[in-house]
Amino acid sequence: MASDIYDVVIVGAGPAGATAAILLAQKDRRVALLDASTFPRTGTLAGWLNTRTAPLLDELGVSVKKLLNHTFSEVTFHNQDFTKSAKPTFEGTAGYLVDRAVLDNALVKRADSCGVTMISGNTVQDVNLGEETTIAICEDDTRVEGRLLMLAAGRVTHLLNDVGMTRGGSGSIIWSGQANAPLPKSAGKREPMVGVVLGLDRKGSFAIYCVSSTWVSVTINWYGDRGEAMPAFIHICRTLHEQNLVPENLSALAAAAPIEPCPASAALDMDSHVGKNTLIIGDAGGFVSAASNEGIYPAMW
Ligand SMILES: Cc1cc2nc3c(=O)[nH]c(=O)nc-3n(C[C@H](O)[C@H](O)[C@H](O)COP(=O)(O)OP(=O)(O)OC[C@H]3O[C@@H](n4cnc5c(N)ncnc54)[C@H](O)[C@@H]3O)c2cc1C
Repeated sequence: MASDIYDVVIVGAGPAGATAAILLAQKDRRVALLDASTFPRTGTLAGWLNTRTAPLLDELGVSVKKLLNHTFSEVTFHNQDFTKSAKPTFEGTAGYLVDRAVLDNALVKRADSCGVTMISGNTVQDVNLGEETTIAICEDDTRVEGRLLMLAAGRVTHLLNDVGMTRGGSGSIIWSGQANAPLPKSAGKREPMVGVVLGLDRKGSFAIYCVSSTWVSVTINWYGDRGEAMPAFIHICRTLHEQNLVPENLSALAAAAPIEPCPASAALDMDSHVGKNTLIIGDAGGFVSAASNEGIYPAMW
């Protein structure tokens, strides 16, 4: 009789968890991948990827051609009042714009085809760390047991406390928010565009805007007080539209967007990412670039 104990139970099917699941299944491990949401995910959530993601996706057996077809080759840097701008020269492609739902769905589909057991639409509420195994306990009381638990539940998760591996505060929280919207077909075909607005305050806060042929997004990374992040976010969305850099005024969406703490650089403050039958990966472990808030490639890597 096959054992009901998995080699690895992974909580979170974002880029970190799904990538780990594929790599482990490719090495013939029995893997269960658990996520609170159902797949395929829907809705537009924008993201940019650096070029190192392409060989990684290739290695995972995920079709790069289809996913990474929104290539951008330049990034414009602006100062806060848009009186100055600069465009560094990149040799070839600077990166890719992706719809996060499409990326996540492709990774989960690949995990499924590699034989990973997918348990979706079920939130993990607790974990039970034993001597030999770990049990993930879901909201409907499903219990999934594995020799190793990989916690890939993203930046805002109580499960870190449950396994006794909290992220220490580095003292400099970055607040992040994103507003994005699909573009109507009537907007016509356009070259993908990426820009960065620097110096939103004296602490180094910045915004990133991305315009692909099908969607537009503005992200804020705010180093000051949380209460100041939202007005600054609304203001920058409006200004980017007034400057004709972004085809839609996303300020109303910004006003409704969640502002979350980014775990950038928290990885360095954690005592360990390895505990009793447990490993912390991706955003949960603070593997996010401190400079840019880039997290998809670090999570997968
Ligand atoms: C506003 C914003 C904009 C960003 N823009 C970019 C960008 O342009 N480029 C970039 O590279 N990075 C960007 N990032 C960072 C990037 O989104 C993350 O670094 C990346 O998603 C981390 O992947 P992950 O797999 O660790 O976590 P996530 O992608 O957060 O995945 C975690 C998964 O765990 C599941 N989950 C959580 N709790 C539970 C539970 N209790 N039980 C079961 N399932 C659970 C969630 O449903 C989710 O699917 C941005 C982040 C934010 C907040």
